[in-house]
Amino acid sequence: MSDTLLSVRGLKTQFGTRAGVIRAVDGVTFDVHRGRTLCIVGESGSGKSITARSILQIVGRPGKVVEGQMILSRPDKSAVDLAQLDPRSKQIRRIRGRDIAMIFQEPMESLSPVHTIGAQLVEKIRLHHPVTRKEAEDRAVAALDRVRIPGPRDRLGAYPFELSGGMRQRVMIAMALACRPQLLIADEPTTALDVSTQANILDLIRELQDETGMAVMFITHDLGVVAEIAHDVAVMYLGQVVERGTVDDIFYDPQHPYTQALLGSIPRLGARREDGKRLRAVHGMVPHPLARPGGCPFHTRCDEAVPGLCDVQAPRITDFSATHGAACHLRDPAMADLPRRKEATR
Ligand code: SF4
Repeated sequence: MSDTLLSVRGLKTQFGTRAGVIRAVDGVTFDVHRGRTLCIVGESGSGKSITARSILQIVGRPGKVVEGQMILSRPDKSAVDLAQLDPRSKQIRRIRGRDIAMIFQEPMESLSPVHTIGAQLVEKIRLHHPVTRKEAEDRAVAALDRVRIPGPRDRLGAYPFELSGGMRQRVMIAMALACRPQLLIADEPTTALDVSTQANILDLIRELQDETGMAVMFITHDLGVVAEIAHDVAVMYLGQVVERGTVDDIFYDPQHPYTQALLGSIPRLGARREDGKRLRAVHGMVPHPLARPGGCPFHTRCDEAVPGLCDVQAPRITDFSATHGAACHLRDPAMADLPRRKEATR
């Protein structure tokens, strides 16, 4: 496998509230490799977006990274632990945008409505590179051209509200890529777009990745998008990675009951009622973060849960290969007598 750009180990991000501590990210471990796309997938409330924001140290107050490592390899071969940086420090501000760029579901979250896109692009480029205004403008035009904005020089004077949703997302990508980051974090960037615009944006991200060799971390709840774009996948549930693997591991050999349930809930073209295969919805709701169940976090919704074990003891990750692992007692060789125990509890 290609080399590791970002190595996240045991990341924990918590929100201290009056009602209690919310463990939004609870010991997450994964790697992001150069030239590859890691999709982080899970339902709303699984902690995917907070994981992404933790990497850039942009978790809103009262959230805080409290434990773990996020080792980023720099182009000069040095390494920095992002978890150790003060969210307001110069060092993390230099990393944001230059080494790691992020695009969001709603471009207006990052674009200023009162400045032209040209002014915003030029400012971003000059913040990270010592270039003249003219040079920055030329780079901005090249960036817009690269994301296939028609008439890029004329568009420099446009305000975000003058562009369609798809165009705004392209401008966001242009802005993210203007400083040639090593890692692009995309947080549900196509969720608000219609399907054909979504396909265009996914093609564009893939093309730019082939061209630049950047790593992409793509956050989504849409398994169709995962199948389309991922090399590697991490499935998250209640702040934990419950299964990780290559896209083939996850789609052809899913091991965790949650992953299996997510895959079972995708409608398939051509499937007929007579075939007898019903869509399997993941029943129940993600528990409230302040009412986390003990033991395996998924046991309140799991059809295979073993009473007396799954509600008491948290499963450890079992590795099936160098790329594939899942956190479930049923897949743990140390729990080989589980089927007998399960029968005994019936
Ligand atoms: Fe289900 Fe138990 Fe496995 Fe958790 S550990 S996924 S509850 S079988």
